[in-house]
Amino acid sequence: MCEITDHSMDRKLIVDSQDGLSPVPATPRLSKSKFLSGLQCHKRLYLEIYQPALATPPDASTQAILDMGTEIGVLAQQRFPGGVLVKAGFRQREAAVAETAGLLQDSTIPAIFEGAFEHDGVLVRVDILERVKTGSMGSPSWRLIEVKSSTRVKDVHLDDLSIQSLIVQGAGVTLEGTCLLHINTGYHYDGGMVDLQALFSVENVSEAVTARRMLVPERLAAMKAMLAESQIPAIEPDQHCHSPYECPFWAYCTKDKPERWIYHLPGKKELVSRLVRQGVMMIDDIPAGTQLTDAQQKVKNNVEWVSSELGPLLRSLSYPIHHLDAETVMLAVPRFPSTRPYQALPVQWSNHIELESGEVLHQEFLHTEASEPRKRWAEALIESLGNSGSILVYSAYEAGLIRQLADTFPEFKSAFREIGKRLWDLLPVIKDHYYHPAFQGSYSIKSVLPAVVPSLGYGDLTIQEGGHAAAEYYRMVFVETDWVEREAIREALLRYCARDTLAMVELRRVLGGKAERHGEGHMMGVT
Ligand code: SF4
Repeated sequence: MCEITDHSMDRKLIVDSQDGLSPVPATPRLSKSKFLSGLQCHKRLYLEIYQPALATPPDASTQAILDMGTEIGVLAQQRFPGGVLVKAGFRQREAAVAETAGLLQDSTIPAIFEGAFEHDGVLVRVDILERVKTGSMGSPSWRLIEVKSSTRVKDVHLDDLSIQSLIVQGAGVTLEGTCLLHINTGYHYDGGMVDLQALFSVENVSEAVTARRMLVPERLAAMKAMLAESQIPAIEPDQHCHSPYECPFWAYCTKDKPERWIYHLPGKKELVSRLVRQGVMMIDDIPAGTQLTDAQQKVKNNVEWVSSELGPLLRSLSYPIHHLDAETVMLAVPRFPSTRPYQALPVQWSNHIELESGEVLHQEFLHTEASEPRKRWAEALIESLGNSGSILVYSAYEAGLIRQLADTFPEFKSAFREIGKRLWDLLPVIKDHYYHPAFQGSYSIKSVLPAVVPSLGYGDLTIQEGGHAAAEYYRMVFVETDWVEREAIREALLRYCARDTLAMVELRRVLGGKAERHGEGHMMGVT
């Protein structure tokens, strides 16, 4: 099967090798994820159905989050002994519905996993359907349970459950309640078997779901009517594109927007909404006198700016200057005693050390075994940092990690107390004392580095951002069995972390040079 686009209709035609050319059905079948897409934006739903190739594929860290959700779902099933999984896959719609119907009739089955239900043109797969009781007439009632790897109930979960419960009930199943099973970050793992009762929190959300369920038929009808149209809905991108999820069509929808488009203004979006209501669509048209944050004002000014304090601040650093970056992994299901779900566990660091002579040394650490990483990470770091010199970091993250470890391991307390006094955060210094138009209001090192040091970026690396690094670390240590692949991941992780600290060395040097040349509160007029 392949897909071609009929531009005259802005619609997709399906070319099936057996059936030949046929137009898409007038009312395509929906699923719960499509329904949620439609709630976020009708245009998103329309594109997902008719033009899915226009979506940006999920990046590695988004994929890792999705994979983690699947893993958590399988673990949650173990809380329901005797439960039966519907084996028919997600593409085997009719087989899955029939298999589920068979399991519903079997009174010995206490729970059904991935049950498939179809009603009114909508198909849903339910994480867990738990048999609550069988009534006097032999008719059972059930509890619908959605499993999430998140740590709390969110609005979108209630919408998710509202469409599921409507379809399940429409398919003739009696529901006694709806619950959300999510990760309990208060669970303290002491070792041994993970306590699944404690790992998950169960929240009965029946009342909130019932209230939302009443809205579903009208919302579904609106979506179906929209999908029957021949044109893509004329919806302009704005902040709705980022909530509750980042829309994968953002790049497509904004491809013709100018660089100075008002939605590129950083910070809280209420101001942008107000400006748009006033007809302001470009950052340069923001009226004088509009109250802007410091970051917004710098974006509006659109000039390179160097504060007179930048030079003295950078010169206050003492040699040897360490440039430190730490990487952590956050496990939804704790594996090491005295840890909690999603606790940040340090597994890697990189330290570029600039000596007074200008020579730069590099030291690094990566914990590659599926064992408790924290003590070895701390011991190696303390040795690398020694007793002298400033320790440059880029954010308060490392300081928080070190505090946490000092609290957990008393043997490191005094060493980390001294290290804490030497930490020097470059991020607030740049925020307060330097700006480049290419930052576009973002002070993340991934935005700052290419603007300040264009010759040094992340484009040549296999791993280019922290979320991907954490996902690859997990794969290397807990999943991958092929040593060649493990070695390739290890190499990529080392290169990524080393790039972060080399970036700090170069940033510091280039900024020092700029401060010397222009350091009198200079506006350099770069536009
Ligand atoms: S980017 Fe925004 S406007 Fe475009 S489809 Fe997604 S949510 Fe809708």
